[in-house]
Amino acid sequence: MAFGDSQSLKLGRVAGIPVRVSPTWFIVAAVITIGFEPLVARYLPDLGTGGYVVAFAFAVLLYFSVFLHEVSHALTARAFGLPVRGITLHFLGGYTEIERESPTPGRDLVVSAAGPALSLLLGAAAYAGTVPVTGDVVEFLLYELAAANLVVGVFNLLPALPLDGGHMLRAVVWRFSGDENRGTIVAARSGQVLAVLVLIVPFVLTGGDPGVFALVWAALVAMLLWSGATRALAVGRMRARLPGLDVQRLARPAAPVAHDVPVSEALNQARRAKVTSLVVVDSANRPTGVVNEAAIAAIPEERRPWVNIGQSSRSLEPGLVLRLGVAGDELLRAMRATPATEYLVVDEHERVYGVLVTSDVDAALAAK
Ligand SMILES: [Zn+2]
Repeated sequence: MAFGDSQSLKLGRVAGIPVRVSPTWFIVAAVITIGFEPLVARYLPDLGTGGYVVAFAFAVLLYFSVFLHEVSHALTARAFGLPVRGITLHFLGGYTEIERESPTPGRDLVVSAAGPALSLLLGAAAYAGTVPVTGDVVEFLLYELAAANLVVGVFNLLPALPLDGGHMLRAVVWRFSGDENRGTIVAARSGQVLAVLVLIVPFVLTGGDPGVFALVWAALVAMLLWSGATRALAVGRMRARLPGLDVQRLARPAAPVAHDVPVSEALNQARRAKVTSLVVVDSANRPTGVVNEAAIAAIPEERRPWVNIGQSSRSLEPGLVLRLGVAGDELLRAMRATPATEYLVVDEHERVYGVLVTSDVDAALAAK
């Protein structure tokens, strides 16, 4: 699951991969210790207050298991040559940040499955470990650890984003439909359904009377699933629209205007040419700037005859000039590299084709 990790603490590195822990982890470690102690007291009544130590040991072991789950994702990704930026442990588990340049469904499937597979293996190992030991703290911890890893493994395999199983479902749909965005949308929808189910489950399991702890926990998990799934859905939809994002289609026609023309006169020229965008040109008719619409709108009507249009334009730097044919991902990357409200669009002969207005691109991405 993905979370903002801006406030996380650095723990160190594993195989060169930075490992961080979110401060929320400490709160949940305390909650687990307090919530788990009654169970310890029931099975190991002789311990007394020592039960809290055992409960805390369980919290630490549980998170160590989660950490190994993330390491499994990270090392599998790296084995495929995918750079791993880091592992973050947070209150509901962990998150491994992998750069997925030129991904393939097969590779995504294996990297996603590596985490739950390790959790299930750990669970089996912990369960096998209970056989030689008997009736003490170690057996109790191993048994609980086996159960916890089984839950972590199975829960993460549920086919719903942002869980690992959701990434696996996404990869499968992608593989069979040939459409990555379709995979994202199907798995994200499934994530939203799971979020609702998680809210209902405590009521079903308890015959309509769940305790406060179960309700709060279910609400928290449901919220995280819902927000992760909804974010994935938005990304999937946006990416599905990328191929339609084309400079040629989105550019507005523009009129050339000399830099020393007053704003009021420039606006008249635009009106006569029936265009909404203006490009400032020099005496040789070469473009030198794009007029910033917001800057013009900010000039009071009565001031416009006294301000030159050149003062309301942004001088052309290389990043502000886009060529016809730039589209999709490439266009977004170019815009991100040089953020602006307007870009000049030129054809293959460096002639002015029009102006690309950033808000038009945003609208095209947000269109239903
Ligand atoms: Zn995972």
